[in-house]
Amino acid sequence: MARCAECGQPIRWATTTNDAPIPLMPSSDPEGVYLFTGPGVVRHLPSWERERHRVALAAGETQRQLFLPHVAECTARKDPEPVPEDTLARLQRIIDAPKAKGARRA
Ligand SMILES: [Zn+2]
Repeated sequence: MARCAECGQPIRWATTTNDAPIPLMPSSDPEGVYLFTGPGVVRHLPSWERERHRVALAAGETQRQLFLPHVAECTARKDPEPVPEDTLARLQRIIDAPKAKGARRA
């Protein structure tokens, strides 16, 4: 199974009906927006069609599951705040502190 280069989670590659490669979550999701229309090919469903498809799934009229794009779940997408300079300096003092004490004792 392929993995996201950003967050390392497993992904499932597919191609949209517009020929664009898209990483999907490997497992289907009731909130999914993509439907496989052929081997490795997915179509993005507009919301009215998703609703209709969910009704059909619930009624057992189709076995075809919906999939979420990986970006919806990618943890690497949430960029962490950069650590401010003064915080880094304070952390460095904490890291250096035991060494300084040890030096005084010696
Ligand atoms: Zn990711």
